[in-house]
Amino acid sequence: MAARENAVDAVADVDVLVVGAGITGIYQLYRAREAGFSVQLVEAGAGVGGTWYWNRYPGARFDSESYTYGYLFSRELFQEWEWQEHFAQQPEIERYLNYVVDRFDLRRHIRFDARVTSARFDEHSAVWSVTTGDGAIARARFLVATTGVLSVPYFPDVPGRDDFAGEQYHTGLWPATPVDFAGKHVAVVGTGSSGVQIIPIVATEAASLTVYQRSANWCTPLNNAPITSDEQARLRAEFDDICATLNSSPHGFLHRAHDRATFDDTEEERLAFFEKMWNSPGFSKLTSNYTDLLLDPAANAQWCEFVAEKIRTIVDDPATAEKLVPKGQRFGEKRPPFVTGYYETYNRPNVALVDLHDTPILRMTADGIETADGVRELDMVVWATGFDFGTGALARMGIRGRDGVALTDHWADGPRTFLGIQTAGFPNLFFPGGPHAAAGNNPRYNGDQVDFVTELLVHARERGCDTIEVDAAAEKQWTDMVDRAAKRAPSFGESSYYFGSNIPGKPRKYLLNSAGRPKLFAEIAELRANGYASFDFTTTKMRH
Ligand SMILES: Cc1cc2nc3c(=O)[nH]c(=O)nc-3n(C[C@H](O)[C@H](O)[C@H](O)COP(=O)(O)OP(=O)(O)OC[C@H]3O[C@@H](n4cnc5c(N)ncnc54)[C@H](O)[C@@H]3O)c2cc1C
Repeated sequence: MAARENAVDAVADVDVLVVGAGITGIYQLYRAREAGFSVQLVEAGAGVGGTWYWNRYPGARFDSESYTYGYLFSRELFQEWEWQEHFAQQPEIERYLNYVVDRFDLRRHIRFDARVTSARFDEHSAVWSVTTGDGAIARARFLVATTGVLSVPYFPDVPGRDDFAGEQYHTGLWPATPVDFAGKHVAVVGTGSSGVQIIPIVATEAASLTVYQRSANWCTPLNNAPITSDEQARLRAEFDDICATLNSSPHGFLHRAHDRATFDDTEEERLAFFEKMWNSPGFSKLTSNYTDLLLDPAANAQWCEFVAEKIRTIVDDPATAEKLVPKGQRFGEKRPPFVTGYYETYNRPNVALVDLHDTPILRMTADGIETADGVRELDMVVWATGFDFGTGALARMGIRGRDGVALTDHWADGPRTFLGIQTAGFPNLFFPGGPHAAAGNNPRYNGDQVDFVTELLVHARERGCDTIEVDAAAEKQWTDMVDRAAKRAPSFGESSYYFGSNIPGKPRKYLLNSAGRPKLFAEIAELRANGYASFDFTTTKMRH
């Protein structure tokens, strides 16, 4: 297929069309272009960054260490970019992703303000025809939807939401212009990872803050710090070792796994170890904790009791503290949020906590939020109510594959994928970073998938083929494996958004891959050895 001179032309005709300019899509664009394909990327937003473009609420920052989240494909890039903090804030992350796009001259391939509304596969030409909201139609041999798993904000269906006369924001759709909380009566609805980041900041600025909590979460300290110049020098010097660890670690972090199980230690040793964990950075409470944390419910309960005691110690009012202690939920069952001054916020006189199990929201009125306790008058409501996780963005792209079958029909009972990159009946469509990707430090697993997609494209080109399609049997085998692995993990319950449980009517299917990166690596190694046997490589010429 001919490459066009001006790829940002609305009427593109390219080998590879990438959808979504987040960290995964930028990398896919780079890899496909470097492999010699003609490329274009279309992005619904007006800038690059994906998650880090849309979630610009105060307090938004990494829970992954900055230098483990950023790209590793270029030593020069790694050496050039000095992250300011171990866990960078949104503005710095957005700057970084813009820097990458310009550093590698990718912006000229990106069309902004272009939301894909329909994508149809033409079986005769084996080409995808992709329409964007502005009416433009692009034709592409290969369509790579890097549309993210947390990119469709979810608003709960609260009666009267449009009647509210004050300001309303969703953390995942935060405006680029500053939002002023000063002197206002503000509500934050939701205490997941975003809610707990924004709450301490709103509390210091607003006249009053009311937090509406559906479920308490096991929050532990992020333990962020600036990166010192010695640490910067060490990071630069250790680039090769850092890559070696990050490219092979099961979860994509630098954290070292512990070698002891919970009950190998005496109670005194255990408390000392938990204290060390409490003071450790970010996700290491999950990745460097006792080896049986997620495997033995009794072990998990020990850690939860330790965290509960911390909450009771930090929060002055015992009734508020009890509301903040999660009930019937193991640590790691939901995505653990990491916090800075979160529990301390509830000691402020201008902050109140409403437990939605006791007093559910009945409706919104022009003045505020009404529960069984009456109407609380508000100037602003911040919805920190999460996303239609995993499949949300792909389900809204109007994707139709062979015989005009809609992806939403093929996935009516939940996503079916092979390696989380392809689904049967949708040739030449790939979705790295989509459903059935692994939990952990996202860019690492998503990057592995991008590398493998690129490898498949190159393989097809070398064999003179223009169509790549996964077998239905391979799709079934992988999907069954994902479902089985999710049931086996005893620390999982279906209460998490990992199972789509935050969206009414969504099938309760595990949306990640709990077998993780080791399973992906093993499968890719086998595919390389057997000539990519789970995929059919064909040419349109062979079929006509
Ligand atoms: C607040 C927040 C904090 C997070 N923190 C971490 C963290 O610390 N560590 C971690 O590993 N992960 C974190 N995540 C997960 C995060 O989503 C991933 O790390 C990563 O950003 C995903 O990148 P992506 O490129 O796959 O998707 P995204 O960054 O979501 O990008 C997808 C892009 O696709 C675009 N798009 C979607 N549909 C269409 C369409 N139809 N047409 C055109 N464009 C479309 C969207 O506009 C978006 O720009 C966080 C997520 C959130 C929401």
